[in-house]
Amino acid sequence: MSRASKDETPVDKLSKAEAKAELKRLAAEITHHDRLYYQKDAPEISDAEYDALRRRNAAIEARFPDLIRADSPSKRVGAPPTTGFAKVRHPHPMLSLDNAMDEDDVREFFKGVRNFFRAPEDVKRVEPDRIAVMAEPKIDGLSCSLRYEGGKLVRGATRGDGITGEDVTRNVETLGTVPKRLEGRFWPDVIEVRGEVYMEHPGFAALNRERKKADEPLFANPRNAAAGSLRQLDPAITAQRPLKFFAYAWGEASEPFTKSHADALKHLKAWGFVTDPHSKLCHGVEQALAFHRDMAAKRASLPYDIDGIVYKVNDLDLEERLGFVSRAPRWAIAHKFPAQQAQTVVKAIEIQVGRQGTLTPVAKLEPVTVGGVVVSNASLHNEDEIKDKDIRVGDTVIVQRAGDVIPQIVEIIKDSRHEKHAKFKFPHECPVCGSPALRVEGEAAWYCTNIACPAQAVERLRHFVSREAFDIEGLGEKHIAEFWQDGLLKTPADIFRLDPAKIAKREGWGETSARKLTAAIDARRDVTLDRFINALGIPQTGPATAKLLARHYRSYKKWRHAMTEARDRHGAAWQELNDLHGIGENTAADIVGFIAERHNQRVLDELEKELRVADYAAPAEGSTPLAGKTIVFTGTLEAMSRNEAKARAEALGATVTSSVSAKTDYVVIGADPGSKATKAHELGVKILSEDDWLKLARS
Ligand code: AMP
Ligand code: ZN
Repeated sequence: MSRASKDETPVDKLSKAEAKAELKRLAAEITHHDRLYYQKDAPEISDAEYDALRRRNAAIEARFPDLIRADSPSKRVGAPPTTGFAKVRHPHPMLSLDNAMDEDDVREFFKGVRNFFRAPEDVKRVEPDRIAVMAEPKIDGLSCSLRYEGGKLVRGATRGDGITGEDVTRNVETLGTVPKRLEGRFWPDVIEVRGEVYMEHPGFAALNRERKKADEPLFANPRNAAAGSLRQLDPAITAQRPLKFFAYAWGEASEPFTKSHADALKHLKAWGFVTDPHSKLCHGVEQALAFHRDMAAKRASLPYDIDGIVYKVNDLDLEERLGFVSRAPRWAIAHKFPAQQAQTVVKAIEIQVGRQGTLTPVAKLEPVTVGGVVVSNASLHNEDEIKDKDIRVGDTVIVQRAGDVIPQIVEIIKDSRHEKHAKFKFPHECPVCGSPALRVEGEAAWYCTNIACPAQAVERLRHFVSREAFDIEGLGEKHIAEFWQDGLLKTPADIFRLDPAKIAKREGWGETSARKLTAAIDARRDVTLDRFINALGIPQTGPATAKLLARHYRSYKKWRHAMTEARDRHGAAWQELNDLHGIGENTAADIVGFIAERHNQRVLDELEKELRVADYAAPAEGSTPLAGKTIVFTGTLEAMSRNEAKARAEALGATVTSSVSAKTDYVVIGADPGSKATKAHELGVKILSEDDWLKLARS
C-alpha cells in the first residue's frame, strides 16, 4: 500500500507552511517504513516508492534548509536495533549511500567530486573523464561488520542505525563464507571487515517453499529473507538458512593496510573473503556508466539480486579528504537500476483457499517476461489491494519485479479500461465449498468459515504427509483429493486406517500399488516428535519451531499436557512456552489456541491410537561436551541473555535446571551471582566462568 499520493504538490510550489507540514508527514512516514523494513523485515512499499519519499524529503529540505527537523530522516540511516540482541557501538559509523537515479545524477556526482578540490595537482587526478573509481555491484542484502582481533573473528554486528547495531556474532559464525580466522599474513591486528549478507535465488525459493508448506508468512524477497535469517535469536536457525557474505569495505583498522579500494579488495580476498568477481576499476565517468549498462544487461542472469552499481573513488587519500555528509560518504554513490517492469493483461482473478481458510486473490496474467523471468501470476494480497488499485479483468497493467520474487501489479493503464471490464466483486463465500466467508474486523483477509472445508482439509492432509512431516511416499495431492471426495479420508488418523482392499479396487490402482501404499504408511507409524508437531499444521509452526518445541518438551505427552495447561494464557506453562527462544507471543497463542480447539483434540486422540511418537532424542552422551550434562546458570551473562544461554545448552544436549544440587554438573557464573554460586562451592560442583561457558557453547 502506498501512501505517496499521486497528486501531491510539486516541491517548488509549496508554501513555507505547507513545506513544514509536509516534512513532518514525511518524517513520520519514513520512520514507519524504516521500522517495517529494518526491524520487522516486512516492508509495505516497494524500494522505488520508499526512495521517492526520501527524495521528496531531501528536495523540500534543499529548498527550505531552515525547516530541517531535528528528527529528519536525512540525518540517519535505518532504524535503531530491536531488543533481543546485545547492542554494539560501531567504532566507525556504518553509513548509507546516496542514490543516483539516472546517468545525469552520476555525472553530477563526478562534477561534485572534482569541484571539491582546488590544487591543480589534485584536480588533475579527479577530472571526471579520468578519475579512478571502483565500480561494484550493489548486492541487495543487509550490511554486516565483522571484527577480527589477532586474525580471529571476535564479533559480527548489523548496521542498525549506523551508530549502534546488533551483536550477531553467533549467527555470522554459522556462515560458510565468513572466515573464523583470517588466512595469509599481513592483516592488521584489529580489522573490521564490512560486507553484505545475502541469499541467492535458489536458496530463497527453497526457503519460501518450506515456509509455504508450514503456513508461515513468505519472505517478500531475498533481502528480507537474509535479514530475517541472520537476525534469529537462535543461531541454529541461521545455520539452516542459505546465507552468504561478500566483502566490499572495512571499518576500524589498527594500522593502514592499503592505499586504494582495488588493492583493498585484493587483500580481503587473500584473507579468505569472497569479493564480487564483477567489480571493476574504471577510469572516468564514461567507463563507469558503460559498466553500469553492462551489468544491467547481466542482472537478470545473476543468481542474486543487485539493485544498482556503487562507484567509489579509488584512491584512499582522496576519499579521506572528501569525507562525509550527514548519512553518506561524499566519495561514493549508488547508481540504481530501474525496477524491472512490463505491461500485460489480466486474464482472470482467481481465489485460492489456504490451509487456514484464507482466501487469497491471484491475478492470472498473459505471460510476459520481466527481467528475464516469465511471469503469469501476480499476488493481489487481499480485497483492499484490488479496490485501491481498481484492478479489473481485461485491464492492461504494469507488473513489476523489484527484487521481489512474487511479482506485483504496480498500476493499471487507464487507457486500456473498457466499459465491459466489470469491477471485481470479492466473493463472500468460499469458492471451493460454498460456505460463507468472513472478514474479521480490522483484518484485510476473508476466511472460509467451514472447518470441514475440503480446500482446507485437503491442504492440511497434504501438509500432513509432506516431506518434512510424515513423509509418506506415494500419497500425492491428487490421491488425497480423491480419497477425501469419496469419504475414505477425513482426518489425518484415517490415513493409517486406509483399507488396501478398498484402494486396490479403485481406478488406476491394483493390489500391488495399494499394498505398497499401505506399507509406506505403516513405515511411518513411528515418528519423531518434531515431525509430528510440524505435521499438525499449527499456524506459524513450521519445521524450525516444531524442532524447538520437541527439543524443549522432549515427549509428546509432556508437550500436549503443557500446551493444555497454557490455554488460559497465563501461569507457569504459558510463561515457559513464551520463554522459549524463537517463539513469540503470537506463535505461542496460535499453538495453545490450536490445542484448545475440541476438533483438534479429537484429531490428536485419534492419532494417538495409530502412532508412536518417539521422545526427542537428545544428542548422545559424549557427542558434545554438554550432552547429558545438567547445567545451572546464575548471575548476569555479558554475551548472551539467560534465555539464549539456556537454549544453546539444550541444543547441545544439556538439561538446564534452576537450582544447584549434587546432580548438577556445571554452574555457569556471570556477574553478581547469588546464593547458587555459594551452594555450588559447597557441593564441589564444577564452576564455569562466562568465558569457559562460551568456549563450550561454541564448540
Ligand atoms: P542504502 O542503505 O540503500 O543507502 O545503501 C547502502 C548499502 O548498500 C550499504 O549499507 C550496503 O548494505 C549495501 N551495499 C551492497 N553492495 C555494496 C557495495 N559493493 N559497496 C557498498 N555498499 C554496498
Ligand atoms: Zn471452504
